[in-house]
Amino acid sequence: MDDSKDLQEAGHRGLLKRFAILSAVSVVAILLLVGVGVHAIYRNQVIEAAQGNAVAVAQALFAQEKRVLVQTSAAGNRIALSQDDFTGLDQRMRAFLAPFGIVKIKVYDGGSKVAYSTDASIIGQVDANNPKLERVLRTGELDSKLVKKEKVADLHGKDRFLVDVVETYVPVRVGGEIVGSFEVYLDVSPAYERIIVALQLSLAVLLSVLVLVFTALYVPMRQGTLGLERVQKRLAELAATDLLTGLFNRRHLFTRIGEEYRRMARDRRSVTRVDRIGFIMADIDHFKSINDSHGHLGGDEVLRQASNRLKASLRAYDVIGRYGGEEFLVMLPHTGIEAAKAVAERMRLAIRETPIYLDGKALQVTASFGVSESSDADEDEEKALQRADEGMYRAKEGGRDRVASVA
Ligand code: GH3
Ligand code: MG
Ligand code: MG
Repeated sequence: MDDSKDLQEAGHRGLLKRFAILSAVSVVAILLLVGVGVHAIYRNQVIEAAQGNAVAVAQALFAQEKRVLVQTSAAGNRIALSQDDFTGLDQRMRAFLAPFGIVKIKVYDGGSKVAYSTDASIIGQVDANNPKLERVLRTGELDSKLVKKEKVADLHGKDRFLVDVVETYVPVRVGGEIVGSFEVYLDVSPAYERIIVALQLSLAVLLSVLVLVFTALYVPMRQGTLGLERVQKRLAELAATDLLTGLFNRRHLFTRIGEEYRRMARDRRSVTRVDRIGFIMADIDHFKSINDSHGHLGGDEVLRQASNRLKASLRAYDVIGRYGGEEFLVMLPHTGIEAAKAVAERMRLAIRETPIYLDGKALQVTASFGVSESSDADEDEEKALQRADEGMYRAKEGGRDRVASVA
């Protein structure tokens, strides 16, 4: 196989593999981007809706409880709750808040002190170092955030775990003046869970579509690539083949001989025993007279049949090609001159022992063989071929139908 053909095949497969990897990365990236983006959008919606609810609840509560929560004096209005009012307020708060999914509520006075909470244990505490609270007390801006709580005690004192809660600060205004702030803890778990399920479902549908699309692209691409590979392989075979005999052509023969010399040079470092390449040059005897008496087409048929016999006498890793008109060249890897002579003798017998039939007439064909070897990886291959050629001419001079070698 040609080096360039190997490279082309690797190139095609590499391209397919790159496409597959790129597709997988794209699918993951698209899912991630869509997932993160859509999640952010829905999450904001949940927070906004919860904020709206918190504001409505806080305003309604304040409208109902203003009398109890605000004390007016000469210094102005301030949030304060007398001990007498606490029990009543607490009962009304709980009754009011029960249907809204509110797990906790705090009412701060203007000094960040908790004036009232459904969690009685924190009443009276001052929430210093709370920038969000300070901001709402100063500017009156609403502020909401979604947090996951490991554990929340709801209004009935029951512990609940892993709850999604939106915490919203809502300013308390009396006559346009900010006197305190509500902090409302709204449980949004049910809505949030529904969104997560919908998101998962959407991503699953998107994944299916993407897999379908990339598969629809990949399958024909793969088929096309494999088809191209087959065509290229066939073209490379044709370019290496002699059309009349089906053997390798001269050009490809030299490619293979060059490769074998390079292999011998590589192995020289690792193999201690001497490595050799055997060469056999074969030439059909008196071929001109075959052409003369049976026509050019008859000659062609002899060439084909002789080629088959020569090839059948070889091992799978030997290389035979048509060197010229009725001349053949054989390269025998890892073969010294003596073994090559034996192979040449086998070829000689294969040609001469069975007649070739042309138009039903038996024709005795013979060939002459020249044998050489090369054990020097640095030798010019032409020299080894010249020795084989010389052997072939000696065989002709010696009377044809024989094997001669030149060491
Ligand atoms: P020798 O025993 O000395 O080899 O005699 P020869 O007649 O075989 O030698 P020569 O090289 O003089 O003749 C070879 C002939 O082969 C000449 C050419 O016309 C013929 N030939 C070359 N290629 C083809 C081919 O493809 N088909 C046919 N039919 N003949 C060919
Ligand atoms: Mg000849
Ligand atoms: Mg010849």
